[in-house]
Amino acid sequence: MSIKIDHELCTGCASCVESCMYGAIELNNNIAKVLPNCTLCGACIEACPEEAISLERGDIKTKKIDISQYKGVWVIAEHYKNKIHNVAFQLLRKGRELADLLQVNLTLVILGANFDDKLEEFSQYGMDEILYVRAPILKDYYSDLYVKVISELVVQNNPEIILIGATPTGRDFAPRIAKRLNAGLTADCTGLEINPETKNLLQTRPTYGGNILATIQTPSSRPQMATVRPGIFKIPEKVQKDVKIRTIEYQFKEKDSVTKIVKVISKTKNTVNLEDAKYIVAGGRGVGSKENFKLLKDLANVLGAELGGSRITIELNWLDPDRQIGQTGKTVNPKLYIACGISGAIQHIVGMQNSDIIVAINKDPNAPIFHWAHYGIIGDLNEIIPILIQEFKKLKSEE
Ligand SMILES: Cc1cc2nc3c(=O)[nH]c(=O)nc-3n(C[C@H](O)[C@H](O)[C@H](O)COP(=O)(O)OP(=O)(O)OC[C@H]3O[C@@H](n4cnc5c(N)ncnc54)[C@H](O)[C@@H]3O)c2cc1C
Repeated sequence: MSIKIDHELCTGCASCVESCMYGAIELNNNIAKVLPNCTLCGACIEACPEEAISLERGDIKTKKIDISQYKGVWVIAEHYKNKIHNVAFQLLRKGRELADLLQVNLTLVILGANFDDKLEEFSQYGMDEILYVRAPILKDYYSDLYVKVISELVVQNNPEIILIGATPTGRDFAPRIAKRLNAGLTADCTGLEINPETKNLLQTRPTYGGNILATIQTPSSRPQMATVRPGIFKIPEKVQKDVKIRTIEYQFKEKDSVTKIVKVISKTKNTVNLEDAKYIVAGGRGVGSKENFKLLKDLANVLGAELGGSRITIELNWLDPDRQIGQTGKTVNPKLYIACGISGAIQHIVGMQNSDIIVAINKDPNAPIFHWAHYGIIGDLNEIIPILIQEFKKLKSEE
């Protein structure tokens, strides 16, 4: 493989020169020229406004890298309205375990603008180091800037493992970084372990519609990158620990991002994100109709719970798509999960099996949900839920 410059199209604008973090491209007589230290990362291809640069795939030979040079586990945080997404703290729990097995440091990486007074609080989540990249523009999420900064940090620091939340944001920047660094990336992992012999990261994820679990390794490339869905791991207990905080002031140039955020419009909904909910009342096809969800809503209101559902309830337009729980929806881990008229298909179970207490209401005594439920109520939900509402109301009035 090699980088090819089309001399007819190249205008000598130098966008490629500035995009190359390795200094592996220069202008020669106003035409771009690739130097021998090119890593084929492809940043210049993306940067060229004339589409004059391409990757020529000849006899593909993979470049062997010295994996022993890569050390450390990184968790990349994302944030919205200056609040770090919980998935970063959840990943710190798993990251700590992996770092201890590998006897390396665990680093939390934050790209932001206003986190100075929060770093001390974050430092209680068990990492060894916080790497805080600070710039006013990083108060919002910019795909290009995350890709640029994180790729540069990786080249400078050589971490062996990078964990990222499989959120819409993480799913946006993680593959772009992996492509730029020629690294392996496994998306949507549900399990992460270390191979005791090779020390490679074992990345497990559901595949073929959730029917099997595949365990993936990337033994010859570094870093090993994985995205993990929120709710798979629990947030660790806080600990007191000496944490090294490295703050890097980053100066961006205007051309570093092709987008400009003009206004951030939040979805105005009175509901809590299901992933953060303490109590969930979830309905399935057994609820029978959109109107009948009112019954579940009444139960949710008494308990201060959020409403969720199986995929079919979203397909039938009984609930909004952000309420879907399961493999292709949200992964939740509330204190209490009440499943009403849900059969317990594996694609649903993977999204709620980590709930502390599962209560199932189903008229079929053989419904698979009862294998997962801590408490099962066999019967018609139309009869059972009103009784539950009445009893919970009574308990509340006695408080
Ligand atoms: C690739 C793929 C991804 C998927 N992703 C998801 C996902 O993310 N989330 C998800 O939920 N599903 C997902 N599914 C679909 C999943 O396989 C099931 O089809 C779905 O979960 C079934 O929903 P359900 O339990 O509501 O309906 P059903 O399986 O039809 O079960 C309805 C249940 O209600 C009970 N019931 C009926 N009437 C009453 C009543 N009056 N009182 C009490 N009980 C009653 C019945 O006994 C039955 O057990 C996915 C499938 C595929 C192939």
